[in-house]
Amino acid sequence: MKKIGITTTVPVEVLLAAGYQPIDLNNVLVSAPDPTKYVTIAERDGFPLNCCTWIKGLYGVCMDSGINDVLCVTNGDCTNTIMLMEVLKLKGKNTIPFAYPERPDAEQMDYVLEKLAATLGTTLQAAEKVRRKVKPARDLALKLDELTWKDNKVSGWENNLWLISTSDFNGDYLKYQKELQELIDKSTQRQHYPSQEIRIGYIGVPSVYAKEFYPYVEKHGARVVFNEVQRQFAMPEPGGSLAEQYTNYTYPYSINEHIADIKSELKKRRIDGIIHYVQAFCHRGIGDIVMRSMIKVPMLTLEGNADFFLNGHVKTRIEAFLDMIERRKISPKVVK
Ligand code: SF4
Repeated sequence: MKKIGITTTVPVEVLLAAGYQPIDLNNVLVSAPDPTKYVTIAERDGFPLNCCTWIKGLYGVCMDSGINDVLCVTNGDCTNTIMLMEVLKLKGKNTIPFAYPERPDAEQMDYVLEKLAATLGTTLQAAEKVRRKVKPARDLALKLDELTWKDNKVSGWENNLWLISTSDFNGDYLKYQKELQELIDKSTQRQHYPSQEIRIGYIGVPSVYAKEFYPYVEKHGARVVFNEVQRQFAMPEPGGSLAEQYTNYTYPYSINEHIADIKSELKKRRIDGIIHYVQAFCHRGIGDIVMRSMIKVPMLTLEGNADFFLNGHVKTRIEAFLDMIERRKISPKVVK
């Protein structure tokens, strides 16, 4: 299969129906042994220092990996992708734009999916067939999510990793399915996490320091039991068609869709506090104002830039936040 880079979660079923192997450039970046290398490639080619690390990293991965075709999401993700696409074109890459509709509307979604399918030389009917084939893998990802918050047998890091990987199924959805089934089988044999642990919801874009963040939270008596965006990547509301599936997917739309989804999960998952991650130089950071005013749960906002590890400052803030929640749980009237 011919590889195609993707800049965020896209209707992967259409790409598979067209005979492509989607590669989520974000996943390549964060799982690389030395992700800074990719950011440096972008900066050497002229990307400004005050440009988001994810954008620079995606560019670096594209240039380094030899991927020639790139599906760039120009609406519903990041405005920087438009300029990233222009630079990739200049460098000789074949870029294909894809725009999510302005608002969640199944009819408009149907139209853009048809258009994407025609551009890639396939049909929506073929993509619907792929949707059915891929569904067991998506169902397993959602099962793992349940094992995280309901059965308390899966770590926040595992949850993040497997849900986030549904954007491209690590390049092979059957292998993904098999490996995830093995993990689920093993995890059901595990001991429960302690019932007195602090339950954290993680909202916002995936962080550049995820590998260290989740274990650090667990080391301090807490666990992430809700990864908002990552869960959305797994398509928790698949509906009856591809158009419905990607209409119910909240990530590309307004902050109100995100908030409605977050609020409906907070109570169900008995969340004690939220960590909102924002990326330096990202427009989504401004949304923190809205999140804080609309979500009535203790919230810590963490910003990350180009450090792919937790620095001392971030560690101290996490510890102080967890300490505050713990004291609040013990004496809710004393600590507000
Ligand atoms: S973190 Fe923000 S600026 Fe960076 S790629 Fe994502 S949406 Fe764009």
